[in-house]
Amino acid sequence: GKRALVAGVADDGGFGFAVAKAFAEAGASVCVATWPPALNIFLNLLERGKMDESRKLRDGSLLTFERIYPLDAIYDSLEDAPDDVRSSKRYKDVGDFSIGGLAQRIAADFGDQSLDIVFHSLANGPEVKKPLLEVSRAGYLAASSASAYSLVSMVQRLAPLMRPGGSVCSLTYMASERAIPGYGGGMSSAKAALESDTRVLSFEAGRKYGLRVNTISAGPFASRAASAIGI
Ligand code: NAD
Repeated sequence: GKRALVAGVADDGGFGFAVAKAFAEAGASVCVATWPPALNIFLNLLERGKMDESRKLRDGSLLTFERIYPLDAIYDSLEDAPDDVRSSKRYKDVGDFSIGGLAQRIAADFGDQSLDIVFHSLANGPEVKKPLLEVSRAGYLAASSASAYSLVSMVQRLAPLMRPGGSVCSLTYMASERAIPGYGGGMSSAKAALESDTRVLSFEAGRKYGLRVNTISAGPFASRAASAIGI
């Protein structure tokens, strides 16, 4: 069977959960990666059965995750995370939460050539409520780091673990191509970068690893992230 990794699942209300469920319905085993600040809440919801209704698959069984990895996609290695983050409540006990750490854990758990699908369903723009006219350099770069470079780094580190013919996919938004008021904080810029990077990565990773790289421009949907900005 195929194995999928969906990065950016922390509840049952976003695209990541729906994508994970669709992969499971199609017969794949599904691992997810969850942002450490949201990890405990997510594990509690799962454990207490609060998501059992949305976990229900067509055959009546419940969606299960083969692994739930911690992931903060703004860090490529643990050394990149500042001490105050590494020692903070939500991070200190989860192990290596970087993208490099994720790759190492997947390699240790399943070996090389063990992944068929990597689905990137994460974004963050700390100043998303600010129009571009008011965005700080730090806010702009943070949006690009979490929302665009995270894909580049994931392909760098996970492609070697993927089987030829495998697929990498992410989610983008139309605000990259048209001016959409409200989608601020440099998130529109980050999505434009994500789309351009998708074209270049598909060229490069296609040749080097035999992988496909795509992005889907999703319509507006009231996930947790989107509700915060009224999209
Ligand atoms: P969501 O809140 O369900 O998913 C975003 C996830 O990213 C959350 O689980 C969050 O914990 C995680 N995350 C944030 N920062 C992170 C980090 N540094 N490291 C790891 N994980 C981190 O919201 P969603 O709307 O389902 O978003 C999923 C994807 O879909 C995003 O790329 C988003 O931009 C895209 N998208 C959303 C819409 C929409 O209207 N909801 C439209 C088009 C595209």
